Amino acid sequence: MAQAKFHFHGELVSFLAPERRSGAFSHECARAATVKHAIESVGVPHTEAGRLLVNGQAATLDRIVREDDAIEVFPHQPGDDAGEPLHFLADAHLGGLARFLRMLGFDTLYDNALHDRAIIEIAARERRIVLTRDRELLKCRELARGCFVHARKPEAQLKEVATRFGLEARLLPFTLCLHCNLRLEAIERGAAAHCIPDPIVERYATFMRCPGCRRIYWEGSHWHRMREVLGASLDISLPRS
Ligand SMILES: [Zn+2]
Repeated sequence: MAQAKFHFHGELVSFLAPERRSGAFSHECARAATVKHAIESVGVPHTEAGRLLVNGQAATLDRIVREDDAIEVFPHQPGDDAGEPLHFLADAHLGGLARFLRMLGFDTLYDNALHDRAIIEIAARERRIVLTRDRELLKCRELARGCFVHARKPEAQLKEVATRFGLEARLLPFTLCLHCNLRLEAIERGAAAHCIPDPIVERYATFMRCPGCRRIYWEGSHWHRMREVLGASLDISLPRS
């Protein structure tokens, strides 16, 4: 066993037992425990840990905890994922968030029938970031990238994910099918004419089609409403496509 002192910062304290939320605390770690094991044993999934300091020095999650170590753990900062692909996998109950992310152009897999094992395998194979409210899922060793979603309402969840992953700099709004997650293709007005009512064909100039379900999208009133909802949630004005 090794007794170490832990200090969690920012939103990470919300994972701790209430009596441990007001600052540093001592915790007895299993023999040869890594920092990953140690922080998860007090409730913080490894995916939520950003910068780590052990005795004031930068460290990684696989560092072995030694007697009297002072371990400080900070949450992720916006920009930590700069340059990394932003493909998501939204866990069950996050369908609203998945839809918002698709509207903004972020490839987001969502199937509420997926079990934890399948989520972990797909995330590894497709390098997806798992979005979930299940902290036990995030403790899984094979999970490289994940994000605990604290908020309960989709608008607030979107703001949270946008802040953590710097989404605002990488938006491609209204480019994905909301149903299939596939990239929409521009089509000629003539090609849309067979599938949608004449007044719409006459009123709009640009049409997009999903190569999977063949749904046709256009910049109608629903589109504008969604632009406002998403813009308000992110506190920005969404660019017109
Ligand atoms: Zn589709």
